[in-house]
Amino acid sequence: MKNLIVANWKMNPNSQKQAEEIFSGIKKGVENTTTETVVCPPFIYLPLLKGLPLGAQNIFFLGGSALTTGISGAMLKDLGVKYVIIGHSESRKYLKETDEIVNNKIKETLKFGLKPIFCIGETAEERDAGKKNEVLERQIKKGLEGVEDLESLNVAYEPIWAIGTGNNCSVEETKESIDFIRKFIPKKTRVLYGGSVKSANSADYIKNAKADGLLVGGASLDAEEFVKIVKSAE
Ligand code: PEP
Repeated sequence: MKNLIVANWKMNPNSQKQAEEIFSGIKKGVENTTTETVVCPPFIYLPLLKGLPLGAQNIFFLGGSALTTGISGAMLKDLGVKYVIIGHSESRKYLKETDEIVNNKIKETLKFGLKPIFCIGETAEERDAGKKNEVLERQIKKGLEGVEDLESLNVAYEPIWAIGTGNNCSVEETKESIDFIRKFIPKKTRVLYGGSVKSANSADYIKNAKADGLLVGGASLDAEEFVKIVKSAE
């Protein structure tokens, strides 16, 4: 199974021109790599970007109904999108996504043959209170409740305190969490790490924490830096 390196551009960049520039830098840089590289731009840039697998940053599960702002699985499939980030901590926090909503979104994603990148992770407070594993177990079990087809599932372990802070999780602790997560999912499911990944620490997560890939936020907006991360996972 190939390692999966995912660029999560979040709410960036500010223009189509910049989006095309970053994307073409990434596309050129990863040309001869064997790693699977996926770019997840904001929805509005998805139709512009061609030549690498794309992922959406969210999905809505009342497909075809009256949900103002909704983007359905059918729309994403029609655009040729392959992956969908679901349950990102920022969506859980700002869009108030519960485990139940995340579960519905995973089902919607699978219904259209798209591959979920299911994000889980604990807050600093939960970690300090010794509740990390409890939180991870709850998120996995509730998120995957009633989901039968786990074939195309990817799980991203993203400790919330490590996202966008520069305070990346140690390789030892990441390995422990990844080993714990693997108890609840099929052997073939890829488990990614995300949280302040850069080219200086990326290889360590693949080689020593045994992650099957990386979810990269901030560093994925710098094509040169992101390409280095992809190459470090080869
Ligand atoms: C993310 O957005 O999922 C993420 C991990 O961000 P960053 O790499 O900036 O910490």
